[in-house]
Amino acid sequence: MNRPVIITCAITGSVPQKKDNPAVPITVNEQVESTHEAYEAGASIVHIHVRDDDGKPCSDVNKFELVISGIKKFCPDIIIQTSTGGRGRDANKRGSSLVLNPDMASLATGSVNFPHSVYENSPDLICDLAKTMLEKNIKPEIEIFDLSMIYNAYHLVKLGLIPEPVHMQFIFGIKNGLPAEKEILEIFIREAQRYLPKLTWTASGIGRHQIEMARLSLSLGGHIRTGLEDNIRLDRFNLAPSNAALVVQAANLCEDFGCSVANPREARNLLSMTVEK
Ligand code: MG
Repeated sequence: MNRPVIITCAITGSVPQKKDNPAVPITVNEQVESTHEAYEAGASIVHIHVRDDDGKPCSDVNKFELVISGIKKFCPDIIIQTSTGGRGRDANKRGSSLVLNPDMASLATGSVNFPHSVYENSPDLICDLAKTMLEKNIKPEIEIFDLSMIYNAYHLVKLGLIPEPVHMQFIFGIKNGLPAEKEILEIFIREAQRYLPKLTWTASGIGRHQIEMARLSLSLGGHIRTGLEDNIRLDRFNLAPSNAALVVQAANLCEDFGCSVANPREARNLLSMTVEK
């Protein structure tokens, strides 16, 4: 049987703007429509950030609520993952979306340099976010930007703050962060699985590395993340016309590797998400 692969679509993020690619969904309606198209194309997880009326990243709970309810109307079974990421947001508001009880939320387990800033995740902030997710049965996606974050995630598992099985995402190709290299991904998978044998994982690449990390993920047993948050181009010469176009590209890659595209029900099973929300 073909291995089912989960495609996550990160539709908006904190960084890309309309001037970079007019297809980046910024308003609530654009985000709902873009998610619907990505879902139809095969995405089973949508990763959400929200923007204010000026297009800047924000933590507005009302915006999150509108996006989530709109998505649920058109994509009733898609897995909704909100971001607790840091760019352009106050640390004390980064968990704002968790009151809405999404299926999943991102959780970075350490700090790292981004191209123009420090992505700061203090031990207290990490513990607070993990505790809230645990209380609300929100599955964390552990965002791994550096090797030490794997060991800290395991530490939090031992403390009972992160439940097993754990899902990690390894992020490559950010300037000042990890280069997109197979050898590094292999070390990360090996180390994470040494401590967390039931681990599921996704490898993602930023910009032009998106597609090469998807290929590596498929060849090494992982899942895929795509979307305009990480990469605004379909290829070297063309902007991506939509999030759905990037999902189609990812789905075609799955086929090339003899994998099937997991539907949301299969994705929930793969991630051991048993609670219906
Ligand atoms: Mg994000």
